[in-house]
Amino acid sequence: MIDFHSHLDLYSDPHAVAEECNARGIYVLSVTTTPSAWIQTSALAPQGSRVRTALGLHPQLAHQRKSELNLFDSHLPGAMYVGEIGLDGAPDFKPYWNDQMMVFDHVLRACSQAGGRIMTIHSRRASSAVLDRLEAFPNAGTPILHWFSGSKRDLDKAIALGCWFSVGPAMLAAEKSRTLVRHMPRDRILTETDGPFAQIEGRSAMPWDAQKATIELATLWEMSEFDIEQLLNNNLRRLVGNIYSGGRLGDADYRQLSEVIGKRTESR
Ligand code: MN
Repeated sequence: MIDFHSHLDLYSDPHAVAEECNARGIYVLSVTTTPSAWIQTSALAPQGSRVRTALGLHPQLAHQRKSELNLFDSHLPGAMYVGEIGLDGAPDFKPYWNDQMMVFDHVLRACSQAGGRIMTIHSRRASSAVLDRLEAFPNAGTPILHWFSGSKRDLDKAIALGCWFSVGPAMLAAEKSRTLVRHMPRDRILTETDGPFAQIEGRSAMPWDAQKATIELATLWEMSEFDIEQLLNNNLRRLVGNIYSGGRLGDADYRQLSEVIGKRTESR
């Protein structure tokens, strides 16, 4: 199971949630909203677990935390994953658009100079602008548009730019999103939850609710749940093998773990 966009540090008992993810063997990308959260959030990942941590500066906090960009730069060499980053065009955050653009450009430039990163990206009411910036920084790494809700036209552009997509149970409950997901390339999709922000049945989504997204994808694409799981694991293995970081190829531990799963499933 894969939850490629989760805010582990924002649950009321982050250690318990991280331990449960470890016990269940879930691949988790634990994203941060500020560079100052990076060290503590990284420490949540149990030894030998499949929990990875992303270094981020959330667009909704750009105006308050832009002073942390220096800290972002100093942590970046040790971070293979970057997020949550992006732009937010909703009325509450549009007044800080210039700060958001400055922060997002800074991060994309830093990632380019560092040789590229796997990036989980927020694009609420801002998908055209996000794609525009990604086009301006083609060497920033592999963008994963999390909870993409743009137009079909923006989706086509995102696909042409090489974007990946992470989709969650809350997103897959909406018919408009389901139509978009039908058009997404199956070899560039991962599951996510966006917990604890995203709600499921009136409660905060937990990382293991990613299974609900797997089940929804199976229905949507008329594939078995088992085949979807194999597809998602193969996607993750390809994604982490694709990227260079500090002269090293990809996330070797992740790739190996995925290969073990790949072999097990292939031999069935
Ligand atoms: Mn999020």
